[in-house]
Amino acid sequence: IKHGNRNGFSFFSEDLQAFSDKRSKIEKYLRTAIQNEEFEVYYQPLVDETGDILGAEALIRWRSKELGWVSPAEFIPVAEECGLILSIGDWVAEEACRTLKILEKDIYKLTPKYLSINISPRQFVQPQFTENLLTTIDKYALDHKKLRIEITENVAIDNIDLTIAKMHQLNGEGIDFMLDDFGSGYSSLSYLQKLPLQTIKIDRSFIANINNCKDNQVITSSIVGICEHFSMECIVEGVENDKELAFLKEKNITAFQGYHFYKPMPANKFLSLFI
Ligand code: C2E
Ligand code: CA
Ligand code: CA
Ligand code: CA
Repeated sequence: IKHGNRNGFSFFSEDLQAFSDKRSKIEKYLRTAIQNEEFEVYYQPLVDETGDILGAEALIRWRSKELGWVSPAEFIPVAEECGLILSIGDWVAEEACRTLKILEKDIYKLTPKYLSINISPRQFVQPQFTENLLTTIDKYALDHKKLRIEITENVAIDNIDLTIAKMHQLNGEGIDFMLDDFGSGYSSLSYLQKLPLQTIKIDRSFIANINNCKDNQVITSSIVGICEHFSMECIVEGVENDKELAFLKEKNITAFQGYHFYKPMPANKFLSLFI
């Protein structure tokens, strides 16, 4: 749409234009971000009911020379669409393994049981995914239990049988799966029954406002019940204050992630928690 006028239509098309400009810039600069060393992995600890660290989630950060800080919520979808997520994902996995290796040094005490990495569907469906990941973990001679995979419900949308087979294969290699953002997607509960999952992460959207929202209370309690039934570990994300925590503890939740405990932090700061 070439020319604007005051009918509102043009404003819409200008917004759309601005959106696609930003998107193509992101794609352009993402292409060189790895070799320019613009990425960093931050770690956000997860804690038990006493506040002890259980594990941590690896979260990528991008400081572009041209665009400044860009949120993963903005660039990961672009990376998924243009395929760059494959090399970015490999890079994150390698970084997490490097960090796990460092934690094996004697100066680090009471280290986390695991680090988890986010794997997008496009990565997971790669025929080479399993082999590549195991090669990376074994390059650092790590216990396979130390690296966990976070997937979302939509990982299995295209081919559930293949997804299940792959998950079983990785399970067999000692790698555990966490279902991320549970409750935010469109999949049915029968998924849960079919997928070999070890952990469910209850989506942050149910925790925000939980003290005042009966609906979210019921949903959260129900998910806890489902996890108990299927013998899955249950983690809540996005715990931001004492009131939310008190409510969640009352519901027998024993694993928490959120700004109330720790924000995502650079590797060196994360490592210093264990000295
Ligand atoms: P996610 O996997 O659901 O990660 C949790 C997000 O919630 C992170 O945002 C984290 O910083 C944020 N968070 C943690 N605690 C709190 C809290 O108490 N309150 C609030 N408001 N937010 C909290 P972040 O780091 O911006 O990442 C956004 C999303 O980008 C992630 O959501 C994930 O889907 C994606 N992502 C991040 N790193 C990677 C990666 O290495 N690979 C892939 N494929 N996706 C990634
Ligand atoms: Ca996640
Ligand atoms: Ca999540
Ligand atoms: Ca999310």
